[in-house]
Amino acid sequence: MQPLLDQHGRAATDLRVSLTDRCNLRCTYCMPAEGLDWLPTDEQLSDAEVVRLIGIAVRDLGVREVRFTGGEPLVRRGLVDIVTGVRALDPDVEMSITTNALGLARTAGALAAAGLNRVNVSLDTVRRDTFNEITRRDRFDDVVEGLGAAVEAGLGPVKVNAVLLRGVNDDQAPELLAWCVERGYQLRFIEQMPLDAQHGWDRTSMVTADEIFASLATRFTLTPASEPRGSAPAELFLVDGGPATVGVIASVTRPFCGDCDRVRLTADGQVRNCLFARSESDLRVAMRAGASDADIAERWRAAMWGKAAGHGIDDPTFLQPDRPMSAIGG
Ligand code: SAM
Ligand code: SF4
Repeated sequence: MQPLLDQHGRAATDLRVSLTDRCNLRCTYCMPAEGLDWLPTDEQLSDAEVVRLIGIAVRDLGVREVRFTGGEPLVRRGLVDIVTGVRALDPDVEMSITTNALGLARTAGALAAAGLNRVNVSLDTVRRDTFNEITRRDRFDDVVEGLGAAVEAGLGPVKVNAVLLRGVNDDQAPELLAWCVERGYQLRFIEQMPLDAQHGWDRTSMVTADEIFASLATRFTLTPASEPRGSAPAELFLVDGGPATVGVIASVTRPFCGDCDRVRLTADGQVRNCLFARSESDLRVAMRAGASDADIAERWRAAMWGKAAGHGIDDPTFLQPDRPMSAIGG
């Protein structure tokens, strides 16, 4: 095994796999109302191709954690088969999905039985009208049902990811936290990043981690959780002395690039060494041209070696990547 090293001393062990760029919600900070030009089917990796690439990552490249994302991973038909295939390759690799939870109530049991360990559910508000405004769909009840089903199926501890938008839900952080604490979900706020297809992100209007702390402090006492952050992006705090915690992922105002252990694979088989990378390495074409596992592993290592030291969002020369978040895999 030779790990995925870069020139800045980091090793990537956490693989994010996008299974589709399609989605059944239209979160305003992620996608335009009309959707996007989806990837052509023949450019998408098949289930067997996805499992083969994950196998190479786990066996030959030192990947220890696999997270399925998208787009919406639950709309990928072969999801349960992919999870089954990866679990057959390795009994110990940690496997999770990041999902909007629509339809999770139907599939949580099958996913757990196939060997999935955990789910992260994205939920930005617990008010139905705000949910409809952000996601442009009236599906709040499905998310709540999906969260409950995940716990019942043993896919916990369930984490909830939330993005705050100025003038929309930025006044709702304490009520979202109270709701999650009551139900045993671990809430993490994520600063909004310049990855939306519409290029609507604005540094001056994004809600910062400091504002999130100030808002939570109006209702809760937060104390730093004792464990060091390590390569985990969330700064963790005990809520009112614990045991409940809340996390804040300050990707923009307190970047954690120096500790990053992520690598990404898109639904069309491109390796991205960073969310904000401006270039990709094509494993799909190599694989379909007959490359061996060893050739693919070598291409993958070369792709990671060139990973930039940081995302440079605050740099005047910063350019948003061509692919939006939904096509990279968040
Ligand atoms: N559809 C799934 C979901 O929403 O969980 C998986 C894909 S989604 C792109 C993954 C995560 O990225 C979600 O938690 C979402 O809130 C977050 N996200 C999307 N656009 C973002 C942005 N511009 N800045 C920060 N987070 C974003
Ligand atoms: Fe879909 Fe997730 Fe993007 Fe919302 S954040 S539109 S659920 S991919």
